[in-house]
Amino acid sequence: MAAVKCPHCGLYNPSDAERCDCGYALSPSMGRARVSGIASVSLVASEVTVVDIKMPFGSMVAFMVKWALASIPAFLILLLLGVVATAAFSTALAAAFHFAK
Ligand SMILES: [Zn+2]
Repeated sequence: MAAVKCPHCGLYNPSDAERCDCGYALSPSMGRARVSGIASVSLVASEVTVVDIKMPFGSMVAFMVKWALASIPAFLILLLLGVVATAAFSTALAAAFHFAK
């Protein structure tokens, strides 16, 4: 088996090593990590693929409540943008009709 040089620290590792001593993941296909117990993800280059979400029911409920609360300011921002867009459109329309007279 050939040695694999770590691109991060330059240390030679056995080719079957998944991770260098410095913590660098040597084989991206092996870079399957559990991130804080929430999701099992595959890390390939800069792309993150969420494979599964393992979450206790209580945490899921708390998460969904947080999500719902966070959607309120998001909705208000969209509402504000809608009001501004409608005002601009109606002003433009009014101006067009004014000049058409
Ligand atoms: Zn290394």
